[in-house]
Amino acid sequence: MEVTTHIAIVSVPVYSHLRSILEFSKRLVHLHHDTRVTCINPTFGSPCNNTKALFDSLPLTINHMFLPPINLEDLPHDTHPAIQVQITISRALPLIYDALKALHASSRLVAIVSDGLITQVLPFGKELNVLSYTYFPSTAMLLSLCLYSSMLDKTISCEYRDLSEPVQIPGCIPIHGTDLPDPLQDRSGVAYKQFLEGNERFYLADGILVNNFFEMEERTIRALQQEEERGIPCVYAIGPFVQEESCKEGSSDIECLRWLDKQQHSSVLYVSFGSGGTLYHEQINELAWGLELSCQKFLWVLRPPNKFGIIADIGAKNEDPFEFLPNGFLKRTEGHGLVVPYWASQVEILAHGAIGGFLCHCGWNSTLEAVVHGIPLIAWPLFAEQKMNAVLLTNDLRVALRPNVNENGIVEREEICGVIRNLMVGEEGKRIRQRMKILKDVAVDALKDDGSSTVTLTQLALKWKSLSLGDA
Ligand code: UDP
Repeated sequence: MEVTTHIAIVSVPVYSHLRSILEFSKRLVHLHHDTRVTCINPTFGSPCNNTKALFDSLPLTINHMFLPPINLEDLPHDTHPAIQVQITISRALPLIYDALKALHASSRLVAIVSDGLITQVLPFGKELNVLSYTYFPSTAMLLSLCLYSSMLDKTISCEYRDLSEPVQIPGCIPIHGTDLPDPLQDRSGVAYKQFLEGNERFYLADGILVNNFFEMEERTIRALQQEEERGIPCVYAIGPFVQEESCKEGSSDIECLRWLDKQQHSSVLYVSFGSGGTLYHEQINELAWGLELSCQKFLWVLRPPNKFGIIADIGAKNEDPFEFLPNGFLKRTEGHGLVVPYWASQVEILAHGAIGGFLCHCGWNSTLEAVVHGIPLIAWPLFAEQKMNAVLLTNDLRVALRPNVNENGIVEREEICGVIRNLMVGEEGKRIRQRMKILKDVAVDALKDDGSSTVTLTQLALKWKSLSLGDA
């Protein structure tokens, strides 16, 4: 008798997190045909086209349900997108619990895998008597920090950003306080308290699934695996999970790819800041000048500036981003650069042979997409844990260059021009390209049948299968 192993996934309404956990789900059912996945999605507002497209691409063995949208009308109009997500999560918890209970009653679940931003789901596993895992769509370095954060909180009394020495996180390269994630930049803030509370709940997990591969963060993953006396759950490095195809926006995508077809191999710098990231107006201006002065070919996904540095609803397209460019920029760079408003098919662009560099905000999906295509990086972190990712890429793996920021928080045009030329045509760029090529090969190997990530995921899937056989 064929027994199906049923896993529930609990996502969060953040595009990049959703994309990552769905790629994990696809990989799981692809490798293990007797596994069925149901994805439970809390929402606020109706999902945008890009999100819908993610679900349209799912195989039949992955079911999904959108929970009734959470009402956020009582929040001030200009509430930060990250807070909207946090509030949606906490208000959706009873709905998630009911959905899990119903699923468990109708077809016995073996495990719940919930996103790392929704650790409140972890105790539900105990209540329903099923295993409960966290899917962590970022680095082992961030995970190590999360699991070590209460220790840091106890041993350091000042603001981390004021420390004269870098912080030492187990298994990681030293990191300056200013490069730690946003919630750690203000210890009196609500976000800091929530960060610590969420991190404590990681200890309730039966395991933590990290979207990275062992070889990329070997020291950190080993350190985590050796720290069982601190009660750290088993850590499974099972990535990199990246989409093979982007969500297509239509004619502008075709235009991009046709334009790239006409460019020389490895000659174009791709510039993009993730699914919602954007720059201040002054910074857009400096970046435009830096690109122009560098005389390198570029493809830039441009968005209008906004006060949060992030656009929550990318589909709304309320403003024309071209209005924020320096006068005459488009005319002067015609033929040399292509500026695409709001969104582009990133994965197809990175896979195109004409791309020779990626000026990237160091979001984890974008970073892994660059790695699997062997594209060297300019690390331009904006928010969340991106500065930490930039440190890993620049100081540890040495596959990126990071421009200096002036005392007003701006990267100036001369600095941008220098760093672009260095990456695209300089000697340092050559060495970075070589290291990225090696990392790409290792990433590809990790996903082969006998690769480290496949072997690790298979061990986990077999454990789940044995439990469902025991249930049968
Ligand atoms: N992305 C895309 N087109 C764009 C911008 C982003 O396809 O114009 C995709 C990108 O390929 C990646 C995701 O959106 O998979 C962004 O995720 P990441 O973790 O890099 O950044 P975040 O959105 O969390 O800031």
